[in-house]
Amino acid sequence: MTYYSTRDAKQTKFYSAQIIKQGLASDGGLFVPEELPAITEQELQMLCSKTYSERAAYVLSKFLTDYSMEELMQDCEAAYCEASFPGGAAPLKKVTDSLYSLELWHGPTAAFKDMALQIMPRLLSRALVKTGEDHTALILVATSGDTGKAALEGYKDIDRIKIIVFYPIDGVSKVQKLQMATQTGNNVHVCAIKGNFDDAQNGVKKIFSDPDAKKQLDKNGYILSSANSINWGRLAPQIVYYISAYCDLLNAGEIACGEAVNVCVPTGNFGNIFAAYLAKNMGLPLDKLICASNSNNVLTEFLETGTYDRNRKFHVTMSPSMDILISSNLERLLYFVSDAEQTAAYMAQLNQEGRYTVSQDIKQKIDDTFVGYCANEEQTAQTLKNFYQAYGYLADTHTSVALHCAEQYRKDTADQKKMIVASTASPYKFAADVYRSITEKEASADTGALQDLSALTNTDITPPLCGLSEKPVRFDRTIDPAEMLEEVYRFM
Ligand SMILES: *Cc1c(COP(=O)(O)O)cnc(C)c1O
Repeated sequence: MTYYSTRDAKQTKFYSAQIIKQGLASDGGLFVPEELPAITEQELQMLCSKTYSERAAYVLSKFLTDYSMEELMQDCEAAYCEASFPGGAAPLKKVTDSLYSLELWHGPTAAFKDMALQIMPRLLSRALVKTGEDHTALILVATSGDTGKAALEGYKDIDRIKIIVFYPIDGVSKVQKLQMATQTGNNVHVCAIKGNFDDAQNGVKKIFSDPDAKKQLDKNGYILSSANSINWGRLAPQIVYYISAYCDLLNAGEIACGEAVNVCVPTGNFGNIFAAYLAKNMGLPLDKLICASNSNNVLTEFLETGTYDRNRKFHVTMSPSMDILISSNLERLLYFVSDAEQTAAYMAQLNQEGRYTVSQDIKQKIDDTFVGYCANEEQTAQTLKNFYQAYGYLADTHTSVALHCAEQYRKDTADQKKMIVASTASPYKFAADVYRSITEKEASADTGALQDLSALTNTDITPPLCGLSEKPVRFDRTIDPAEMLEEVYRFM
């Protein structure tokens, strides 16, 4: 399987190990496979009797053709082992008669990013060998909270890899901040940025496309790589859990083979939902993909009008991992429904004017699959409370945005197909907001909120979040976005 950049009309070819190492194409585009491999009904039935690791290795082998099945199996077994994902990697919980929560947060950092970031360092490590690389890989991450911690956990103390994480100072929860500030490992660095997530992400993108920085790093024995969802090594493992969830529905007798289901995904950078799109286009019987946004509803508007406009007020919400105005992976969708030349033109417009409008033809293709909904803060809190009281289901704030959107979609349409909602974080990761949503009262203090929520709901604190406030803080630097490159040099 070969890969291209979304912006390269000449279609220069790359192999999977190369693109996993490189992260972002040198023209600023994102890597995409030349074609999508198929997944047939027979294969789905075959996968039904397999473990999550086996399903993952099987699906990944279709994309990462320069990795052997043995290598993939070894990495998947290690990534999705019982110690990292107690009780299984992506359990599907039945919430109502026709709505299922795909819980993607049972990993080491209690957010869905673990699903990809437990395996990606292993794939990168092999990619360095496969490509004959003699430099150290320096992973540069911009995070709205969950990616940073998950990447730090995935990459810590991995040989010949260093990682530096930038996060917006006021854009992450206290639990998230503490998780990152207390990170262990000898090859890690964490730094706060005065600004929002887009400032952090733009800063990282700028360093990636800076030829002088590249030279400087090269001289010192480093190559840059990314762990953001713009890296294909992040995206490919996310396809797996949609296929796995479908198998679980089959196994539970909830659907017949071939029966179409809908999927609703709380969306920020458009990575998770794009993985569902890829699964659908491989042949998984998915029908509508409901793109759920919070008050930063740039995607809702785009899916409604065909105009993507990032010139708008940025809202800090209680679902901070979705507080994003530039959803990077949307570029991959544009490529799939148009071509490289068109994609490059839209991205240039986005860069210069902060907006673009897609053609009617492209909009139609997107409409065939996607529909956008959003939830404001009040709706998020209300839905969280309703699901807890009516169904005994405790969701985090991000999942709650999706639950609201899934319900709204069903009210607006006659579509009663079974619905999988991607659940992206443990409720304990956003304990203070979850507690307030249910009780309409403040929890005692932010990390005390974990205890309060546990007492209120009679559930256990998600293990990775226990004892966080007692861990020593190792990182407390805050800088201007303009100083990011210097910070990288300092760390190097
Ligand atoms: C990252 C994240 C999202 C958004 O996922 P994208 O792939 O960026 O769309 C949603 N919820 C949580 C909890 C996250 O960490």
